[in-house]
Formats: sequence, C-alpha cells, structure tokens
Amino acid sequence: MNTSISEKMFEMAKKVIPGGVNSPVRACRSVGCDPVFIQKAKGSTVYDVDGNEYVDFVSSWGPMIHGHAQPEIVEAITEAAKDGTSFGAPTTKEMALASMVVEAVPSLEKVRFVNSGTEATMSAVRLARGFTGRDVIVKFDGCYHGHADSFLIKAGSGVITLGIPGSPGVPQDIVKNTISIPYNNEEVLEQTLREKGDTIACVIVEPVAGNMGCVPPGATFLQKLRDLTSELGIVLIFDEVITGFRLSYGGAQEHFGIMPDLTCLGKIIGGGLPVGAYGGKAEIMDQIAPDGPVYQAGTLSGNPLAMAAGIANLKLLQKPDFYKELNEKAEFFADGLNKAAEKAGIPVTLNRVGSLMTGFFTKAKVTDFESAMEADVDCYGRHYRQMLSKGIYLAPSQFEVLFISAAHSIDELKKAIEMTEWSFKKLAED
Ligand SMILES: *Cc1c(COP(=O)(O)O)cnc(C)c1O
Repeated sequence: MNTSISEKMFEMAKKVIPGGVNSPVRACRSVGCDPVFIQKAKGSTVYDVDGNEYVDFVSSWGPMIHGHAQPEIVEAITEAAKDGTSFGAPTTKEMALASMVVEAVPSLEKVRFVNSGTEATMSAVRLARGFTGRDVIVKFDGCYHGHADSFLIKAGSGVITLGIPGSPGVPQDIVKNTISIPYNNEEVLEQTLREKGDTIACVIVEPVAGNMGCVPPGATFLQKLRDLTSELGIVLIFDEVITGFRLSYGGAQEHFGIMPDLTCLGKIIGGGLPVGAYGGKAEIMDQIAPDGPVYQAGTLSGNPLAMAAGIANLKLLQKPDFYKELNEKAEFFADGLNKAAEKAGIPVTLNRVGSLMTGFFTKAKVTDFESAMEADVDCYGRHYRQMLSKGIYLAPSQFEVLFISAAHSIDELKKAIEMTEWSFKKLAED
C-alpha cells in the first residue's frame, strides 16, 4: 500500500497544526503508525489521498449512520446553503428539528441546539447546577463527555490513549467539584450519592459507555442510578451523544426504558455537520436564558445547514425496520469476529449493544474502566495496521467503538470478517 502523499501531508500538517491533527486520537499514536489523509467518502467506503480505498468502521465516530455522502442528506445541505448559511436569528428549520427530536426522545420536552457534544454536556451540567443550586458533579471512570474542564478526570479513550491523567490546564479548583467513580459499581454509587447527596447537582453517564470501548450497563445499573438520583433530588443526565438515534430512534433511554432528567445529543443529530443538543423536562429547561437565569448562547447554534442535515438524517431513520436491519448486520459482523477469534485461538472479548461494538484483546469480561485497561493495546495496534493494509479502516485505538452503518453491505462485512480471520491468525502466529 502506497501512502506517500499522506506521509507528506502529515509532515506539512505537523508544522501548522499541533500534532498535525485537530483531535488527538486521529494522530494514530496508540496504534503505532501515521494517519492516512482522507480525500473523500461515499457510502461505507473512504478514499485516502493516495487513492487507497477502505471499508469504514469509524463512521466519523458515529454520525454517519447512513454512510457517507448520502444523497438525500447532501441534497438537503446543498438546498439550505443556497438560501444562506447563517443568520443569527430564529428559523423554521430549528423548530422542525427540535420538534422531531422532542417527539423521538421520550424524556425530552424541550431541547436547545449547540455546536458540539462538548457544548451540550458542558451546558447541561451548568443547567443542573443552576437548577439545584449545588456544585458537585458525579461521573464514571472511562466515560467521556467532551473536553470541558469539569469532565477531564478519567475521561476515556482520547485521554487514556495518550496516557494523560486528566489534563494540565484544568484548575484543581474546578475538578475538586467532580467525583469520578467506577462504572457498573452499584455499591460505590450508592455510598457516594448517599454520603454527598445534598451537594451533588447531577450524575452524568453514558448509558452505554462508548469511550473506553463498548461497555454495556449491568442489568440493574441504570435503574439503580435512576432510583437513587430521584430519591436524593439529583439531576440525572444521560450523555447520549453516541447512543442517541443509534440504539433506537429514541436512544438508549427508549432501548432500556429508563428516563433521565436531561439528555445530551450530538453526532447523529447533525448528520455529519457540527451539532449538539441538550434537552429534558420543561421544568428544568425553563431555567435557561432568556426564560430563566442560566446563561447559554451560541452565534452559530441552530445553524441552517446543520439543521437541514439533521432533519434529513432523522427522516431516513424513520424507515420501517431501520434499526432491526442495522442491528442484524451488526450481529452478523459480531458473530464473524467471535468465530475468527475462536479459529485463531486468540482471546477476544466482544462487547456489543445494537450497532456499537468493541473487540477487546483480553480473556476477561470487560465491565468497567479497570477491566478495559486489561486489553492488550500492542496487539490491537498490530491488528489495526494489518487491517488498514488490507483496506479495512478501524478506530485507531483499542478503547473506541466500531460502528456499523446502514451503508455496509453483507458482502463488505463478509470481506471484513475474512480480513479479520487473516489478521487474527497472523497475530496468533507471532
Ligand atoms: C463524542 C462525544 C462527546 C463530545 O462530542 P464532540 O462533538 O466531540 O464535542 C460527548 N460525549 C460522548 C459520549 C461522546 O461520545
């Protein structure tokens, strides 16, 4: 495989962009190679600047649930652009997408659009603090909620992969108000919430963790969380930036039947354009300015191109059996990976919820951050490089999720399974 143009581009990029990338995991450091530069993409295929083709399992980290350059979405964005790209004033598109989102996500009564998942979680936490008059937030080890200061403690893949414990630049004064506890540990949860309950504004959780690899919630974990937070007057925030419109049209809350007070969205609702959103009960949302005192704003929030992309994206998700078919593909692929691991005799623990999955290179069950850390990252690195050389584009970190999109055909999935068999066999031999 020739990647000489990518190599040259990366050298040039490093001179003007820190690390040559605009988001750290893209630099591919944890898989021991340099990134390829993407020229274009269509459906489930991405093409690099040297003309190599790959079957894409990154999906821009989640948004591309219909694959790349989906014609109806492209059309919607193009048409919107012709009428102007930003006004800084209300539009009917915002109202239309907000209505769709409120109708889709069971616990939402009102929603506010922002420009990224990071903005959504940051604003939701401010709102929870304003609403409760309390300062402390509780999160879970290995969960990622964007890069705002309060969340950069044991914050999942991007941070783990670089070996940065939290981050310099985050004042102690801020993180002293953040408590991070193990995912899926109901005892520690109960103890923490009961001890500090009257100081805790909110608990924020990925209802299926996706940023330490895919880690599903235990059978009673989310219910326990709901019961305790209700009892103690703590705002429960589901960070559904990955799971929203992914696990079902109503997200993880619909999938598991557990309703948070606030929900953060991103990724899929923007159809590949920069969008985030947070919403919830009217009683809480009405605390936001201009109705209430909690300030939050955005020059480009509710951007017409992003709203148009979001509307088109969601409409496509309403197709009957969309999620059934997507999940069947994912199951087919997961079976293939499990069989490949068995055949090669290498230990792989595959976690999957719907169309999200991670194959951890470890024998042990992966239920939290600590067990995820048992995975053999060098082995993943070799697997990543081998797969890339055969035209399969995986996430450049063991602690990320593999996304199945509606654009993946069974034939492509079969091809990717064959390559996985080959790669696993090679790993077993070395
Ligand atoms: C990606 C992600 C975010 C941050 O979203 P950005 O758009 O990258 O700022 C927040 N929470 C979760 C669960 C995510 O996966």
